[in-house]
Amino acid sequence: MTTLVLSAEFWEDYTMKFRFLPNNPEPTMSPANWHSWNWQLRQSLKTKSQYQEFFDSKGYPLTESEIKGFDQGQKIFQVRTTPYYANLVQGVDDPIRRILMPTQQELFSKDEQGAQHLHDPLGEKKNQTAPRIIHRYSDRALFLVTDFCSVYCRYCTRKHFTAQDEVFPNEKEYEASLAYLRSKTGLREVILSGGDPLTLSNAQLQRVLSDLRKIEHLEIIRIGTRMPVVCPMRIDEDLLKIIRQNKPVFMMTHFNHPRELTAEAAMAIESIVDHGIPVMNQMVLLNGVNNHAAIVQALSRRLLYLRVKPYYMFQCDPSEGTNHLRTSIEESEAIQKELWGHLSGLAMPNLSIDIPEGGGKAAIVPNFELSRSTQQRKYRGWDGVQADYINPATTVKVLPRDWEHYAVEWSALKEAKVKP
Ligand code: SF4
Repeated sequence: MTTLVLSAEFWEDYTMKFRFLPNNPEPTMSPANWHSWNWQLRQSLKTKSQYQEFFDSKGYPLTESEIKGFDQGQKIFQVRTTPYYANLVQGVDDPIRRILMPTQQELFSKDEQGAQHLHDPLGEKKNQTAPRIIHRYSDRALFLVTDFCSVYCRYCTRKHFTAQDEVFPNEKEYEASLAYLRSKTGLREVILSGGDPLTLSNAQLQRVLSDLRKIEHLEIIRIGTRMPVVCPMRIDEDLLKIIRQNKPVFMMTHFNHPRELTAEAAMAIESIVDHGIPVMNQMVLLNGVNNHAAIVQALSRRLLYLRVKPYYMFQCDPSEGTNHLRTSIEESEAIQKELWGHLSGLAMPNLSIDIPEGGGKAAIVPNFELSRSTQQRKYRGWDGVQADYINPATTVKVLPRDWEHYAVEWSALKEAKVKP
């Protein structure tokens, strides 16, 4: 297995602009173990006493709220983290700590009057069309290849499935899922999700990817993963070769905070991109974690520098026990508006809300329009410039002469719409 080594070239190139600092293990831990992803998974913290021991040794013990969260919170969602990710925590009131530690607020928030607490916020169960398949949109489907994650994020939207110890599908489920994907000829994309697909072994991933590649109508495969964030040592040469062999595959990462971009994570991303695998990042706006324009811009610019497109900035879903972690829609809009114009389009993530019960995504964009008529619209831009956009006088619409060349594939895509 290839281990992650921070090369001199990497330092020269990537510490010039931004300081991607290594996440150093405790001096008592062997670097060879620390840089092994299997070791990170085996040594994951799961129990209150393991967390207690870990954070006591760092000088910031468990809070009363966290202790209560452990004693009762596991009923809402399991607790687990890699030592690598826990080692990013710097103190008690820390953004990364809020992502990984259960607290009493999880339980309080469940009882808050009028608060929305959905076991399945995205209505995935009703769009489950085969054992591990969620098919909501016309041309793409989710394939839940494992329910296991190396870190159980407290805001997780898929608590109805994740952490149920179902791991890789059994043969019957696997074949039924593939049969479904084969039968839906309108499908163009499959998103490997879970759980975290990169917690599977290389052999399992090879099997899944090559089976999907044999399905002729599939064009794009996406892998949704938090492993580059919470266990970047997973990104080794063998894995990248497998992914590359099955191209085009997009890697959808899930960085939420600039401090998650350590030297190790930056190097992992660097290797992914160097293997020709496009990387897009989906962040979730979280109260006390990243709900400030300064933090979002810092994350986005660093990601872009590493050739990762900041793709989505999600409004946190109303998953059970997440009220204290959610921002209001107004606050999210204000953050987006503040960033607008200061961040390039390349660095700007799209603010989006997932309509509960499986309504799909609703884009949220700042409103710059002051008034409209048939002839013109009046705008005020991000920095106050006001101007009119006059509609073109042309009244004869000209269709591109070759549009029919693409009409058949367009109709097929629209007809692939799944009826719930
Ligand atoms: S990695 Fe994703 S699926 Fe797993 S717990 Fe975190 S948010 Fe949920």
